[in-house]
Amino acid sequence: MTKIPYKIYLKESEMPKEWYNVRADMKKKPAPILNPGTLKPVTVEEISPIFCEELAKQELDDTTPYIEIPKEIRDFYRMYRPSPLVRAYELEKKLQTPAHIYYKFEGNNTSGSHKLNSAIAQAYYAKQQGLKGVTTETGAGQWGTALSMACAYFGLDCKVYMVKVSYEQKPFRREVMRTYGASVTPSPSMETEVGRKINEEFPGTNGSLGCAISEAVEAAVKNEGYRYVLGSVLSQVLLHQSVIGLETKAALDKYGIKADMIIGCAGGGSNLGGLISPFAGEMLRGENNYEIIAVEPASCPSLTRGSYAYDFCDTGKVCPLAKMYTLGSGFMPSPNHAGGLRYHGMSSVVSELYDQGLLTARSVEQTSVFEAATEFAKVEGILPAPESAHAIRVAVDEALKCKETGEEKNIVFGLTGTGYFDMVAYQKFNDGEMSDYIPSDEDIRKSLSKLPKVD
Ligand SMILES: *Cc1c(COP(=O)(O)O)cnc(C)c1O
Repeated sequence: MTKIPYKIYLKESEMPKEWYNVRADMKKKPAPILNPGTLKPVTVEEISPIFCEELAKQELDDTTPYIEIPKEIRDFYRMYRPSPLVRAYELEKKLQTPAHIYYKFEGNNTSGSHKLNSAIAQAYYAKQQGLKGVTTETGAGQWGTALSMACAYFGLDCKVYMVKVSYEQKPFRREVMRTYGASVTPSPSMETEVGRKINEEFPGTNGSLGCAISEAVEAAVKNEGYRYVLGSVLSQVLLHQSVIGLETKAALDKYGIKADMIIGCAGGGSNLGGLISPFAGEMLRGENNYEIIAVEPASCPSLTRGSYAYDFCDTGKVCPLAKMYTLGSGFMPSPNHAGGLRYHGMSSVVSELYDQGLLTARSVEQTSVFEAATEFAKVEGILPAPESAHAIRVAVDEALKCKETGEEKNIVFGLTGTGYFDMVAYQKFNDGEMSDYIPSDEDIRKSLSKLPKVD
């Protein structure tokens, strides 16, 4: 048997030329997104004032399994992809586990996360349509950074509404975006109607992703030649992120490795959805079986404690309604250092797969996540993003279980990014000042009582 190298790289010629749309293989499709006014499924025409046309088509396409990746996007992908699939030999040694651990590392680009995979696609389609620019929100800043890079490459204007608390706490993220030419506004701002309203209702608010989305959508609709783009949750984003799963599968196949378990962190569900898509596709077609685990923070537990219901995607209630596992669009998660996992809902594709039992979910507490992060950093060298460390936590837990049972499981997890801009969080952890806030049942019940009545 060939020894598995530390890093399994695909050749450029082995990179995917098409994205895979897992919805095409789902017998029961994710519930359609609804017009909040009529409560009828939206059409491409209805959402085209908000989204780029080609992206609106991808959003509503439940039937085409493979969609060609345009050459311009593949040219950009080639600058930082294929990303390595790494055999975590050193972590295995440290844990003394018989399990074989692999991680797909998406942090090898300036934005530091997988978000660039979709940012470059969305910027490309906006440029193709002849638009002037795009608007978006960013929480922790990874998406805004990725989009700024993509817009700079295609010569598009980029307006980012950044959650106020991150704007203040992450000045360097903000400066990276501005260096790539984006304009960055703290949200809620006084520039939009919805921002003024939220500021009036909640004076001194630190902002949230839901608020920033409402502002970005309003800015897109009110500015000629602009459209809104989103870095997670939407089905089009999962489609673009399938490049992660396709590369992972190709790399495993190259060495004849069959994954037993696939683990990913879940905020809005895009990296997890992208990583698992080709594997879930095999399960849906009855060809193979995998154990898939979504990992979320205990402070924002949409899959493990939310309801599967139609909800607003944003606090200002301007976006279409999506059926998803949700904590309610008014849910304000407590301060948690994994900013990218603080969204109230979950991708409708991941939600439906979860509801069908194709994956399970686990919630983990912050301090144990940082313990896993530092343990990983010390042996594997990479300083992980706090979001990614949620997946590390569960991968380590599972590898330790294998140590007890003696099973040689192949565990694959998504290492979505690096944590260089998260040093305030690491500082809190190093100083022993990190807390584990978990919302009470009453908190969640209150928030869920405000779900829109749909049927
Ligand atoms: C945004 C982000 C996530 C979470 O987003 P998903 O859409 O759930 O993938 C995870 N890791 C990193 C590094 C991120 O930037």
